[in-house]
Amino acid sequence: MTLLGFPWKSEARNAAYEAGQTHYIEVAPCRNGHFGLRRVKDGQCQTCNRASVKKWRSKTGYKTDPEYLRKWRAQNPDLLKIHEANRPEHKLKLKRIRNAERRRRISEVKCEKMKSEIMAFYIEAQRLTEETGIPHEVDHIIPINGKTMCGLHVPSNLRVITQEENRRKGNRLEI
Ligand SMILES: [Zn+2]
Repeated sequence: MTLLGFPWKSEARNAAYEAGQTHYIEVAPCRNGHFGLRRVKDGQCQTCNRASVKKWRSKTGYKTDPEYLRKWRAQNPDLLKIHEANRPEHKLKLKRIRNAERRRRISEVKCEKMKSEIMAFYIEAQRLTEETGIPHEVDHIIPINGKTMCGLHVPSNLRVITQEENRRKGNRLEI
């Protein structure tokens, strides 16, 4: 690493440079009053730098919007591979993101499937009510608010019975 202007006015910076370090701590605060780390190569205050990067990112929305990143990854699989090869430390992170996305998609599909299965019970109850003239209802086989156990609002816990049967059963579990 050879840099312009060396040796600099700052002894701390020179010492850090000679020791092969990338950052140093200046005796005096930066122009914004920070006493944090500064970068050896350009003397820039890390706190100020991070704040300006954050500001720029929030202003442009670039690289911070998860939806934007998801789209970018989907549209640029080749660039993503190059990025992974260049930045092996990002590989694990990207793998985690991909797995999370896959799980999210699977659970969305499962959820939609379950919703339509549940809806089918209500449609069937309405159909039987209309066709027979006897009011039918969707029953939770294991009551949702039972005294001893709690059933779930899932297809395997649903059946269509008449309103009368349902009133008689109440919150009890019949086996
Ligand atoms: Zn600063």
